Amino acid sequence: MIKKYRKRPMVIEAVQWNGNNAIEIMLFIGKELKVSKPPHHMEFNENIPNTAYTIVIPTLNGDVIASKGEYIIKGVQGEFYPCKSDIFEATYELVEKEKDDKNNLMIKICPICKSITHYNSYFKAYMCLSSECTWMRRVN
Ligand SMILES: [Zn+2]
Repeated sequence: MIKKYRKRPMVIEAVQWNGNNAIEIMLFIGKELKVSKPPHHMEFNENIPNTAYTIVIPTLNGDVIASKGEYIIKGVQGEFYPCKSDIFEATYELVEKEKDDKNNLMIKICPICKSITHYNSYFKAYMCLSSECTWMRRVN
């Protein structure tokens, strides 16, 4: 039977490769990566992909070369893979700080001691359940 499915909304981490942030990408992935310069005979032109720096990303399916402008995504299993910027921007939207805070509240983990928190409707706040911790956050 054919049924309809919709992707679950999930928050992923990504860094855009701008041709110049290799250190940032390496810290993100946690590995040393190969970066290749544009060929000597080609003058650098950011509008021509072949003249830009590339970076090699180790993925579950082997090494994949990412061109300048591509996003490096950390997947749900902790794997990494590059994604063309037009596809990335059509698929993902930036999570604002405020939304991020709401997500943190939804998982109900205390940011101080990592215990479970619960919602107290009298105080209109999430409160840490650990007796040694006084963390709480009001929800408006
Ligand atoms: Zn706590």
